[in-house]
Amino acid sequence: MTTTTTTQPLPSPLAHPLTLSALALGQAIANQHVSATAVVQAALNHVALHDEALSCFTSQCEDLALQQAAAVDAQVAAGQPLASPLAGVPVGVKDNLSLVGTHTTCSSRMLKNYVAPYTATTVQRLLNAGLCPVGKTNMDEFAMGSSTETSAFFPTKNPWHTGRVPGGSSGGSAACVAAGMVPLSLGSDTGGSVRQPASLCGLVGLKPTYGLVSRYGLVAFASSLDQVSPFSRTVADSAALLQLIAGRDEADMTSYAAPAVLPNYLEAARPEALDGLLPKRPLRIGVIEELKGDGMQPEVREAFEQSLQQWQAAGAEVQTVSIPGIKEAIAAYYIIAPAEASSNLSRFDGIRYGHRSELAVKDVADLFCKSRAEGFGPEVKRRILLGTFALSSGYYDAYYGKAQAARRYLQQSFNKAWAQVDVLVSPTAPTTAFELGAQMDDPITMYLNDVATIPANLAGLPALSLPCGADALGLPIGLQLMAPAWQEPLLFAAAAQLEALLGRYANQVAPAFTPV
Ligand code: GLN
Repeated sequence: MTTTTTTQPLPSPLAHPLTLSALALGQAIANQHVSATAVVQAALNHVALHDEALSCFTSQCEDLALQQAAAVDAQVAAGQPLASPLAGVPVGVKDNLSLVGTHTTCSSRMLKNYVAPYTATTVQRLLNAGLCPVGKTNMDEFAMGSSTETSAFFPTKNPWHTGRVPGGSSGGSAACVAAGMVPLSLGSDTGGSVRQPASLCGLVGLKPTYGLVSRYGLVAFASSLDQVSPFSRTVADSAALLQLIAGRDEADMTSYAAPAVLPNYLEAARPEALDGLLPKRPLRIGVIEELKGDGMQPEVREAFEQSLQQWQAAGAEVQTVSIPGIKEAIAAYYIIAPAEASSNLSRFDGIRYGHRSELAVKDVADLFCKSRAEGFGPEVKRRILLGTFALSSGYYDAYYGKAQAARRYLQQSFNKAWAQVDVLVSPTAPTTAFELGAQMDDPITMYLNDVATIPANLAGLPALSLPCGADALGLPIGLQLMAPAWQEPLLFAAAAQLEALLGRYANQVAPAFTPV
């Protein structure tokens, strides 16, 4: 006997558990339609079958996943209440999040042999909630990139087309969800690293308000921008995962006490919830003038416009809003993020942390040089050089000071926009998934992938990408919604409404990898 009651229809007996949404899967486990152990075993089998083709994982933690599943099954059998609606659900964890006893490599030679001695708060909260981490996922080295090709180990492939990138930097976390290996994963988003791969892989990716989710145990890239962020295949799953990881953490001084009591995100992630969140008027949507699709792949612009038309037909008010300073966001980001990275990465010197060169050295400075030259790849070196230059005496005001001013200006522009609209929208990425290798020699084009995602990081705002269409090759297209700080409930409700309108793009697994 379980104490859980069900209000939803039983999942179809033909549906493979791994094709269910995370919430439906959690419910199937709680209701003893399937055991958590069987689900985790199925996930591990699916990984074993397909990870060679996709390279989602840098390491796996089968034992931990099965242990977690066994504990959930024992609770179910004993009729005990489960720790969360997602208990027993398998999950992927980006390899810049610490999990005690496992490798945490940041997909870098620098940390190739590093085993975390502690667990990140977000990962611990997932363990406490009964989720089952199956492995650590591949990423751009130290989360610097938009294609998962700067990984020192191997590139991850897009499950929708294995000749294409999954986006990045959290490409492994995106690909394992899109391939049906797991229904959920954690990534990190500093400038778009969850929303852009979500867009390229047909998923929901949420970057929470800065400070809502603890960064403790996340290897820092740019501390004033980084947020641990969920991937899922539905808006409700994103809300359910945020519910578990959000909230004040004494171990992270940038995690905010406000809001003191967390809203019920799951409750908000329904189209009907909008009525309770808005003062008796339609949802007001602002299309960001500067990002409304000009210069983007025509199919991206068309899918975006069609989605807005559908939304408008369903009663939403759509207007165009200019956000002065948004075009400069990318330039400001590529000063601020490298500046912070150059400082954060200085600890990897072969003595305090990281790879140590075995070459003969003259002195300690020589050891630092050789270790860092061997440990870091070209993109990380580029960022460290950029950041160090931007912070150097004589250039600080011209670059870093100016970038910070641009950041403040952008924040003010957003504040003005919120007087007119409830959410701001744009395409998430300028193109669908591009070919592996296509942008590796062209850093500027690679950086421009984040033109629409970076502003939310600079302003600390919550933003969510959800699938809204496909190009001629069937590759997914994403639409981004942004909301005022701490307004995740509104963001989820609006996204759930659009998800319901767009129907067939919810909970999609890439056809070639759909578990049967
Ligand atoms: N692609 C961006 C960069 O390379 C964003 C990365 C991220 O969000 N971690 O910096």
